[in-house]
Amino acid sequence: MKICVLVKEVPDAAVEKRIDNSTGRMDRSGEKNLNPYDTHAIEAAMQIREGGAVPVEEIVAVTMGPESAVRALHKAVSLGADRSVHLSDGAVAGSDVAATGYALAKTLQRESPDLVLLGQQSDDGECYTIGAVVAEHLGMPSLTQVIKMDVDPDALRCERQAEYGYDTVQIKLPAVISVGDAINEPRYPSLKAIMGAKKKPLDTVGIGDVEIDASKVGGENSAAQWVAAKAPPPKGAGEIIEDEDTNETVEKIVAWLDERKLI
Ligand SMILES: Cc1cc2nc3c(=O)[nH]c(=O)nc-3n(C[C@H](O)[C@H](O)[C@H](O)COP(=O)(O)OP(=O)(O)OC[C@H]3O[C@@H](n4cnc5c(N)ncnc54)[C@H](O)[C@@H]3O)c2cc1C
Repeated sequence: MKICVLVKEVPDAAVEKRIDNSTGRMDRSGEKNLNPYDTHAIEAAMQIREGGAVPVEEIVAVTMGPESAVRALHKAVSLGADRSVHLSDGAVAGSDVAATGYALAKTLQRESPDLVLLGQQSDDGECYTIGAVVAEHLGMPSLTQVIKMDVDPDALRCERQAEYGYDTVQIKLPAVISVGDAINEPRYPSLKAIMGAKKKPLDTVGIGDVEIDASKVGGENSAAQWVAAKAPPPKGAGEIIEDEDTNETVEKIVAWLDERKLI
């Protein structure tokens, strides 16, 4: 089995997210990191390999992003991927979700994976949609919020986390699975793996290498256009209840909660 894992470089969680008003794009300057949700997808791939129910010949990390995104690939490799593929081309800059999904699907097509794994969401865009778009272009079935996987040579039995409980779904391979963050506890990379990550094969490709139609990617060819962004309204000052008489304080807190129908 060959598993491809989609990984994305995102601004570090500690960095405040901003829109660059001159371009309408997210300001991605500053510290960046591997999207934390994607570490669950890499861990899921590693557990399939280590579980031994099916032989896993290769785990390949795939990203689309600027030059700096290579660091997310190194991190993915240090967590267990055997090699990585980086779609890096000025023509894809500014792509919306549909164009990004198309470009990633074309990049994956060249790899012919049996299974594509990805995170439930990115920490910056938070669209939760790339899995479905990629699956549609690849003509593969797709599941989201998967928190358990049992693998057969040509099928997967998955548990999905839903609001009402858990769905158990059987799906034929090849397939695209976006994993929920409850699926596993990602491992930490060893120092040796971190040091060795840069030596693992990395294939940098442009749109021509993976037969991407230039008229379907990039900001100008995207159907979604950013119009405006505004910060959420500032939070009002809280209400401070001084504790002079505990019974009275408790009554005040209960009344406050009751007024807002919180109890
Ligand atoms: C008008 C417009 C312009 C935009 N311009 C840019 C831009 O210039 N640069 C930019 O980076 N983004 C840009 N974006 C955002 C970009 O479209 C989204 O980041 C992208 O479509 C993925 O959506 P998401 O991050 O919300 O992914 P989600 O659907 O929330 O992510 C789910 C999973 O998909 C995978 N994934 C998502 N994105 C990638 C990726 N690039 N490579 C590999 N795996 C991935 C990850 O595994 C992730 O966990 C733009 C969006 C719009 C609407």
